[in-house]
Amino acid sequence: MSAWAAYEDQAGAMHVLPMDDLKPHVLGDGCWCKPTPEDDRSDIVVHHSMDRREYTREMGRVQ
Ligand SMILES: [Zn+2]
Repeated sequence: MSAWAAYEDQAGAMHVLPMDDLKPHVLGDGCWCKPTPEDDRSDIVVHHSMDRREYTREMGRVQ
């Protein structure tokens, strides 16, 4: 539960994905979850889990 993994896409950006989410993610900005870049690292893209697990991982971060 609540596991995350990072994958590199073809453009060299790192995508942080929730593993075994309710819906599979796509390695790209066009993913259904509307992934957002890290605040200070534009080469890191953080996806959003369908089960909202990031609310237990990140401190009060509202997406
Ligand atoms: Zn996604």
